Amino acid sequence: MTPIGIMSAMHEELAAVLQALPDEQRVQVAGRDFWQGHWHGRPVVAVLSRIGKVAAATTATALIERFGVGQIVFTGVAGGLGSGVKVGDVVLAHGFVQHDMDASPLFPKHEVPLYGRSRFETDVDLSASLRDAARAVLAQVADHVGPEAVSEFDLQSVRLHEGLIASGDRFVSTTAECRSLQQALPEALAVEMEGAAVAQVCADYGVPFAALRTISDRADDDAHADFSRFIRAVASRYSVAMLSQWLKNP
Ligand code: SAH
Repeated sequence: MTPIGIMSAMHEELAAVLQALPDEQRVQVAGRDFWQGHWHGRPVVAVLSRIGKVAAATTATALIERFGVGQIVFTGVAGGLGSGVKVGDVVLAHGFVQHDMDASPLFPKHEVPLYGRSRFETDVDLSASLRDAARAVLAQVADHVGPEAVSEFDLQSVRLHEGLIASGDRFVSTTAECRSLQQALPEALAVEMEGAAVAQVCADYGVPFAALRTISDRADDDAHADFSRFIRAVASRYSVAMLSQWLKNP
């Protein structure tokens, strides 16, 4: 069976994934630890993406070239940009754009030179099966994060959003920058630092790609006092629960 690549953005998420693999073996490539094992009987390779577009692109390329993965699923956190996209919600990416790509006037702003496009779509079928898993987990949030986290982070009415995610090599943490991103890319629901790079690598190789991002902050002046706590208490639990649910019911 062709292995599935699982990329986590944060250490805490990868640690939660590794706990679910009974038989993982570490293989080092390009200074990264890749973990080969099985989850619900399916072969997987789990790895930390590392932060930023170049690091994530190298990780994705190694997953495809060295480990022969047939699909890649990414889980991580992101800042909410769209209205109503709040902390604790999840965004299923339909596609990605690099908000810091600008080779104008030679190419239109955001267009990746020589690709003739600015957006890299995710795989429709893979995303559909992840959608079911994400919905199932969000319907029972307290079972996965516990009632304390539900009240601490106000997770009573969390939602799954779907649409465009913007990626760039910047942690967006001022209201001014958040506003200018919202103006430049009004469709973008969330902002993070890796997805567009992985989407581009997967497009180059023809490997199906899907991504789920838990909203950890609103990419504004409050982003973010409790970032690490949120990742530990909420985001990493969502990720492992959604991946587990997805692998159980492919
Ligand atoms: N303090 C963190 C740094 C994380 S960098 C640490 O100690 O590791 C931010 C990570 O979260 C990246 O993987 C990025 O994709 C995502 N992210 C969350 N909120 C973001 C925001 N507002 N802007 C950009 N990336 C964000």
